[in-house]
Amino acid sequence: MNSSISWPCAALSRASLASRTTLKVGGSVEWLLEPASPQELTEAWSVAREEGYLPRILGGGANLIVPDGEHPWVVITTERMNRVFRPGMDPGPQGDGEAELFERELPPAPDPGDGASDTRLIAWAGAGMPGLVRTARELSWTGLEGLVGVPGHIGGGVAMNAGGRWGELWDVVERVRVLTPDGEVEDRLRSQCQPGYRQGNLGGAVVLGVVLRLERGNKAEIQEQMRQYLAEKSAAQPVTERSCGCIFKNPDPELSEGRSAGQLIEACGGKGLRRGDAVVSEKHANFIVNRGGARAEDVLGLIEDVRRQVLERSGVRLASEAQVWR
Ligand SMILES: Cc1cc2nc3c(=O)[nH]c(=O)nc-3n(C[C@H](O)[C@H](O)[C@H](O)COP(=O)(O)OP(=O)(O)OC[C@H]3O[C@@H](n4cnc5c(N)ncnc54)[C@H](O)[C@@H]3O)c2cc1C
Repeated sequence: MNSSISWPCAALSRASLASRTTLKVGGSVEWLLEPASPQELTEAWSVAREEGYLPRILGGGANLIVPDGEHPWVVITTERMNRVFRPGMDPGPQGDGEAELFERELPPAPDPGDGASDTRLIAWAGAGMPGLVRTARELSWTGLEGLVGVPGHIGGGVAMNAGGRWGELWDVVERVRVLTPDGEVEDRLRSQCQPGYRQGNLGGAVVLGVVLRLERGNKAEIQEQMRQYLAEKSAAQPVTERSCGCIFKNPDPELSEGRSAGQLIEACGGKGLRRGDAVVSEKHANFIVNRGGARAEDVLGLIEDVRRQVLERSGVRLASEAQVWR
């Protein structure tokens, strides 16, 4: 390990990642970098590349499995890049010029003609999804309520195209600012991107920030919608346990006779299967929960057990939704 690297942001050496993921498993990495702005992230990326590393990006760790052991990796977390602001407002508590830069470069919203205010939110990659959903509700802006109860950062949400039955994040994305693997900063409009089912299709680019376009709505209705969604989610999913969300993507309905990944797993007796403290949730078969002392090895082994069982019983090969860093 090269301990003499001069990083342009806060940096931790030999940092454990388990506590930074919602599943609470996994090992440590050589360097964990904590930039506090898109600019710092860009600089950290460039130094890492010069030092011969291809950094990995960690958001809220809510859809991620980090293997056990010590990894010779540089990981950049967006944890400290959590600012959210509105075009034309909030220059930032410290008058931070960079927030303004992101804002200044934003083209004006088309004039809605009815005096409506600009209903866009600008969020840096590390802004928490639950906080953004609440912010939109407080502003009486509609468009994000379908993402209630989805943990993680907006950057991870864009990368994963987080969503479900009530809509997807990319439905409200106007543009993203990304850092390409070559270190170029680019703005991409929604129309230039082809987000798919649980993937933003960014070609390895890092999300630095995002502009969300919402619509004016009725606060009481938004609130009620969120309450209903959250109640349904809590009834169906083990939301209070340690997990990384859905393990598998839902297969093509033509191949699975319309059955979801969870239904296929349940049909082959998968609920309750375990390896150590990693258990297939009894509440929702597409979730693996950590009952305390699970290791990444247990989780990864259990994923393969389930995949094999479903393939043998139904002929469907389940693809992973949760990201596994190898
Ligand atoms: C209880 C629970 C419920 C959940 N419910 C849902 C749900 O309803 N719908 C849903 O879609 N998901 C759900 N999830 C999964 C998770 O919340 C989402 O996938 C979320 O968007 C992940 O964001 P994150 O910041 O945690 O990403 P991470 O887990 O940190 O990262 C996931 C992937 O995105 C990449 N990434 C992260 N940040 C960036 C960035 N800035 N730029 C480029 N790549 C990046 C990472 O490298 C990694 O490959 C749930 C998870 C839990 C624990």
